[in-house]
Amino acid sequence: MTPPGGVHGLAEHLEQLALVDHHVHGVWTEDADAARLANAFNEADTAPLADPSSAWDTQLGFAVRRWCAPLLDLEPHPAPETYLRRRAELGETEVARRLLDGTNVSDWLVDTGWSRDLSSPAGLAALGGGTGREIVRLETLAEELLPTLDDPADWADAFAARVEDAARRCVGFKSVIAYRCGFAVDLAPPAPEAVAEAARRWQAGLEDGAAPRLDDPTLVVSGLYAALRTRRPLQLHVGFGDRDLDLASVDPLLLTDLLRRPEVRGVPVMLLHCYPYERHAGYLAQAFPEVHLDVGLATHFLGARAPGVVARSLELAPFRQVLYSSDAAGPAELHHLGARLWRNAMAQVLGGWVEAGDWSVDDARRVATLVGRDNARRAYDLD
Ligand SMILES: [Zn+2]
Repeated sequence: MTPPGGVHGLAEHLEQLALVDHHVHGVWTEDADAARLANAFNEADTAPLADPSSAWDTQLGFAVRRWCAPLLDLEPHPAPETYLRRRAELGETEVARRLLDGTNVSDWLVDTGWSRDLSSPAGLAALGGGTGREIVRLETLAEELLPTLDDPADWADAFAARVEDAARRCVGFKSVIAYRCGFAVDLAPPAPEAVAEAARRWQAGLEDGAAPRLDDPTLVVSGLYAALRTRRPLQLHVGFGDRDLDLASVDPLLLTDLLRRPEVRGVPVMLLHCYPYERHAGYLAQAFPEVHLDVGLATHFLGARAPGVVARSLELAPFRQVLYSSDAAGPAELHHLGARLWRNAMAQVLGGWVEAGDWSVDDARRVATLVGRDNARRAYDLD
């Protein structure tokens, strides 16, 4: 029989452990209606849902009703209409305050490259406690630089200067190469002439008044090397995302040539999300000491099935290279569920191994602490 609270206090240990959420976005700053919330409960479809109520008949919808409802003073499993009514009564800020308060996160490492209608790192920490820190998105830096550059031949130096400047205020960099060209491109450092030519083409193709969007593989890849030179951790979106990316071209195994490069040696490379390639990421973590992985985003979308993905993330990967993240963005339900479902899953998965006699409870607690806090503190050099 499992004692209340899980095996030998493992669940209590996980509750008390203040997490480092190493990849997250802000919460909404404006009240949201039912349709907006439902669309935020669907990651993959970029079109508005034809029937927003369908978003509630999902693992995520069920998890919201189970785990978030009590923090809004409702019984677990209310009807979606009841939940929505209560949510509207409280307003977005109060909902966020209540749901973030329940996460017990000490450090929010916020990707500020996609931040429309979202709180800043400091704003997130003001609501949820702890410290907000910045992760700078490389493609956003490039898009800010392009319109200001007089001579595209200067691209490489000008971009490197921006990256070095950003490295003074951020704890790491992120690339969304997955969304811009996928991993099935030449990932070797591009020649300087090729970089200058790509910058010239991009600038020449920019239409008047249009916001620049970087999707040229030469510039995206050269940006990765600019970030690697700073030695700050480099986050890469991997796997599950919206349908703007081609999921087949973001299998992390396609990064193997990049990971073999000397420029990567000693720089933490953080494979984010990974689902459904978490086993491939685990292999890469065993193959390269720089590789770290998390299963954020999948955790809340899989709801009651989150223990499966958490268990698979702890197969081949050395335990010092697995991290916690929520990858929540927008409604604070996602921030709450990231932490809630991860703790539940870790208690169930590690607790199961303790109960089976395979793991000691001390090892289970230690691994929970590594994944939830210490691996991120070490990799990002947090004080
Ligand atoms: Zn994200």
